[in-house]
Amino acid sequence: MYLSKSLYTRGLQCAKSLWLKKYKPEVLQVPTDRTVFETGDMVGDLACGLFAGGKEVPYEGTSFDEKIALTRRWIEEGVSDIYEASFSFQDIFVMVDILHINANGSMEINEVKSSTEVKDVYLHDASVQYYVLSGLGLDVKRTNIIHINNKYIRDEELELDKLFSIVDVSSEVKELQRDIPSRLANFEKMLENTQTPPPIDIGTHCFDPYECDAKSHCWAHIPLIAYLISQT
Ligand code: SF4
Repeated sequence: MYLSKSLYTRGLQCAKSLWLKKYKPEVLQVPTDRTVFETGDMVGDLACGLFAGGKEVPYEGTSFDEKIALTRRWIEEGVSDIYEASFSFQDIFVMVDILHINANGSMEINEVKSSTEVKDVYLHDASVQYYVLSGLGLDVKRTNIIHINNKYIRDEELELDKLFSIVDVSSEVKELQRDIPSRLANFEKMLENTQTPPPIDIGTHCFDPYECDAKSHCWAHIPLIAYLISQT
């Protein structure tokens, strides 16, 4: 089993979605609207300005192992802010949006969201990052969600410290640690079956917290049922 933080949160929403992503990705809809991703990238880049002067682990053109090695090297060299800092523990790979390293070596995880509030799914996202870093023996002192402050009205200059809200979610993230090992064990057991997805029916979870990209696959029978009912 090899999981990223997005696969972990996908599995939390629906284990079948995780199974399909792993073994039948061709049934998943490919997003055509790039706007969400572009907005997320733009917000992420702006948020790095809150921790100016850091180094960014390149996303393109480097393997997971290279990203991890580069992160380790920069930590050893004393770089205080690393964007997309990469780590792996127990086959879980995470990239921390902004890792801040204090002078005493303790660390702060910063997860950036283009939302205007902290949502539960973000806490799970941050919690798996904390799980990996603390599992590696790193001293994580604080975990933050950084999101857009929708009360901010821009004047002439863009003030990043006002544009963003930094919310300390350390206690929530620590609270979530207890359930992570059993969740991972459940995912591992479920993924041992490479032939058949878990028998999960459609429901409200198909839209919450995200609209699932397997909907056209799992909901394919719904129009037919509606048609059959209309004919009786
Ligand atoms: S469409 Fe619904 S049931 Fe199917 S994988 Fe997605 S969340 Fe699960």
